[in-house]
Amino acid sequence: MQTILEIENVKKKYGKTQVLNGISLKVEEGEIISVLGPSGCGKSTLLRIIAGILPLDGGIVRIRGQEVSGPHHNLPPEKRGINMVFQDFALWPHMKVEDNITYGLKIQKIDREEIRRRVEETISLLHLDGLLHRYPAELSGGQQQRVAIARALVTKPSIVLLDEPLCNLDVQLRIEMRTEMSYLFHKLKTTVFHVTHDPSEAFAMADRIIIMDGGKIDQADDPRTCYLKPSTALVAGLLGAGNDLKDAGLFAINDAGCQVQIGEETVAGTYFPASDSSGNAPSSFPRKAEIRFRPEDGHWLGENLQDNCFKAQSILSTFEGGCYRVKMRTQNGQEFCILHDDPIPEQKEGFVQIEKEKLYVYESADH
Ligand code: ADP
Repeated sequence: MQTILEIENVKKKYGKTQVLNGISLKVEEGEIISVLGPSGCGKSTLLRIIAGILPLDGGIVRIRGQEVSGPHHNLPPEKRGINMVFQDFALWPHMKVEDNITYGLKIQKIDREEIRRRVEETISLLHLDGLLHRYPAELSGGQQQRVAIARALVTKPSIVLLDEPLCNLDVQLRIEMRTEMSYLFHKLKTTVFHVTHDPSEAFAMADRIIIMDGGKIDQADDPRTCYLKPSTALVAGLLGAGNDLKDAGLFAINDAGCQVQIGEETVAGTYFPASDSSGNAPSSFPRKAEIRFRPEDGHWLGENLQDNCFKAQSILSTFEGGCYRVKMRTQNGQEFCILHDDPIPEQKEGFVQIEKEKLYVYESADH
């Protein structure tokens, strides 16, 4: 497969603040990449550098092997073979749908017959039949979104950049549109670089998810691997493992996993070494760890002690539709949540069980 986009050690500062800290990444032809991360982690900055709207301070961006941003060259946005779909769609309000879609083709001086053919193809793909003579203000949010995508696809760019493309749509429409976009981009084999803070959007669309934190990449894997094996505590938290038990004692690490203490019990978990540890983590035990797990992975056993359990006390049960979310406390006073079919009486003590593979253990920053 051919590499379309290559980002090599890209750095960016705003004033004295380092926002991108040496990002390196390759995107293959036809691949859908979702860049996911908390607000302020540098996603939009990276997107804008690729688009050529923002200069970089270090590193190189190449498209189809050609340097487009870097020490030797800075190609203007319109010459990069890139189109972008913005959060607010950015349709031209004074132009009808047809003119919004054909504008880029006319600029490229594509002949009339080819324009007609491409518009026909695009409107049929995006179900825009019958809307060509309307102005953007006469369209629903979902229809405006489709026009923005049609406009981005019609010139057949090397890469389509999507900047939080669904954040202005209501929840139901967001779910429909992300499925539709994923189907369309995969069918057309479009190379897509998509930025979002919404994990479900990344899961629905991406072939590969790039998870950023503080201007660097924490994990770059297919969605399933990111979900099942989150490589850092931040990735785990972002992908649903919101339970965060700090300062747990870490007693042993071996090929089969690790042993951590929760309250008075020792349980087995899956250990993820820090990517930058380079042997810096102390080799002696016990040391400090951070434990992450998803509420749905914690099973209430009551007084029935079984494998890989720890003791906890219930605080509050709230109905979630289908099950209860139960707030609990470990023996050493740390709070977490589990899901359970029934409410658990307040202050009830019992055991919570978590499978070893679903109990994620990370080295604490200060060991
Ligand atoms: P994200 O898209 O992940 O939310 P951004 O790339 O927009 O993050 O921003 C990264 C960081 O850079 C944030 O802390 C933001 O406040 C800051 N930032 C963004 N644009 C500018 C700017 N033009 N001047 C100064 N700081 C900026």
